[in-house]
Amino acid sequence: MTLKKKILIGYGVAFALMGLVVVWAVSNLISLGKATDAILSENYRSILAAENMVDALERQDSGMLLMFLGDADKGIAQFRENEAVFLEWLARAKDNITIQGEAQLARSIEADYAIYRRQFSELTDSRETAKAALRPTYYQETVYPLFAKVREACIGLRNLNEETMYAASLRAGKVATRAIWSTLLVAASALIVALMFSLFLAERIVRPIRRFMEASRKISSGDYAVQVTVETGDELGRLAEEFNQMAHQLGRYHEMNIEQIISEKNTGEAILASIEDGLVVFDTKLKVTAINPAARRLLDLEFTENSPLQCMGILPDPQVCELIRKTVETGAQPAVPDEQRIIVLQKGDASRHYLFSVTAIRGRDRSLSGIVLLLRDVTRLKEVERLKSEFVMAASHELRTPLTSLGMSVDLLLEHASQGLADKDRDLLQVAHEEVHRMKALVNDLLDLSKIEAGRIELEFESVPVPTLFEHVKTVFKNQMDMKDVSLTSELTGDMPKVRADANKVAWVLTNLISNALRYVSKGGHISLMAHRIGPHVHLSVRDDGPGIPPEYQSKIFQKFVQVKGQEAGGTGLGLAICKEIVRAHGGAIWVESSAGRGSTFAFTLPVAQ
Ligand code: ADP
Repeated sequence: MTLKKKILIGYGVAFALMGLVVVWAVSNLISLGKATDAILSENYRSILAAENMVDALERQDSGMLLMFLGDADKGIAQFRENEAVFLEWLARAKDNITIQGEAQLARSIEADYAIYRRQFSELTDSRETAKAALRPTYYQETVYPLFAKVREACIGLRNLNEETMYAASLRAGKVATRAIWSTLLVAASALIVALMFSLFLAERIVRPIRRFMEASRKISSGDYAVQVTVETGDELGRLAEEFNQMAHQLGRYHEMNIEQIISEKNTGEAILASIEDGLVVFDTKLKVTAINPAARRLLDLEFTENSPLQCMGILPDPQVCELIRKTVETGAQPAVPDEQRIIVLQKGDASRHYLFSVTAIRGRDRSLSGIVLLLRDVTRLKEVERLKSEFVMAASHELRTPLTSLGMSVDLLLEHASQGLADKDRDLLQVAHEEVHRMKALVNDLLDLSKIEAGRIELEFESVPVPTLFEHVKTVFKNQMDMKDVSLTSELTGDMPKVRADANKVAWVLTNLISNALRYVSKGGHISLMAHRIGPHVHLSVRDDGPGIPPEYQSKIFQKFVQVKGQEAGGTGLGLAICKEIVRAHGGAIWVESSAGRGSTFAFTLPVAQ
């Protein structure tokens, strides 16, 4: 049976019970109506007839008395008039004989009334002849007793009907009381039955729904084996079948998902195990959550469990953990140049260099869920770099002496023997002179750079006042500035502390930056030196109003031999690389801010002297 039918049956039963109560109440009302109707038809009409008969009889008696008093015509007329009325009511009373004794009374009234009428007729017939009969004594002795008898009988008829009517009304009252109580009883029983049936039906409908709720709860807690048992053939039974099917499918998807997750996890682990770079995964509290065999090897953690490991406990260099902590705090990896992302790990007697990188892991809502630390072994690269620097250093050192004597020879030739040469030969000698000097500059730069890279240059730190540095370079460049008609100004903002620096090396950096600027500004241009303090550093900068540097070159020009295309201007391409090494050796950073056509500002930082 369908759920709809069940609900309709519920309503049907309630309606049927209501109908029963209504039918019962109506039938009671009908029987009550019948009881009062019976009173009306059985007794009321007889009472009315008796009353009218008494009335007509009394008027006839008055007519009779009129006759005895001498007004015979009026008396006869009144008698006859009321005789017809009496007979008519008597006929109605006879037609409505309904109770015991009523017929008998009607018969005796009829008989006595006939005698009464006969007496009257006799009196009127012998009126002239028997005047003696009209004496009052005759009335009292003969007529009145008969009149009284008929009247008594009529009153008796009325009383009999009144008594019966009273009894009937008492009966009707009882019927009404019984009707009220029986209707109440039937209504109460119907109500109780309807209530019990509704409760029973509601329980039958709700019970399977509770099972669905219980099953849904189990599914959401991960129990996909749950089955709902509803054996009814209604919509809920069909819903149970569909629900069980759905739970089964969900279970299958869940298993498939787990299999997929496990397979992806295994793939991930295989990738981690196969790569030669060290890889460590941290959670946001910097606790190790995964580590690959290469990282275990290089961090000496081969026999240690993952769980208790903390970043600070496995990495000797605090800057790595600091960078990871900053990444967790800001959600993005701070930009750190490659050369500052190198850590040295000791493996037995040998030390190895690792380039580390920190990458954020993001969850579904893009929130940070962990950090991946990659450690790439760059020891070999470093070694190659070192060998290269040593070679460059040795080569440039070896080249410097022959180049110096070559330069001197060309200079002497140009000075003393160029007069005797043909113009073409003199030009060739001039070209040789320029190229030798360019080569000398290149070799010197290369030697300087390779010495710094190899750490062969010792810095002599002292507390240096920035104005002194500026004054020094201004003096050095005075003549060149005048020759090119370029102004060189300096500007110091706020309280300027001394810097901790090697004055000669910093002067070298400033000299290099100013000579670059001088090379690129046009005649009548302007170069300014500026310094201001920001926290524990002093920012020094050289600004010019030259052609500027295109954005794509701004990070590259600090690398060796990089020159802006079309803006080479006879340099070696090593000046800024040397500047960068010197600034780094001071623990500072160097960068350029520029836009094409609007000049360049080269800035670098130096630590404030303690
Ligand atoms: P170079 O010996 O070529 O000057 P540097 O390393 O000092 O080598 O500079 C690299 C390149 O950067 C230059 O070749 C030039 O193209 C560009 N450059 C440096 N300084 C400036 C400047 N002030 N204005 C414009 N370009 C500059």
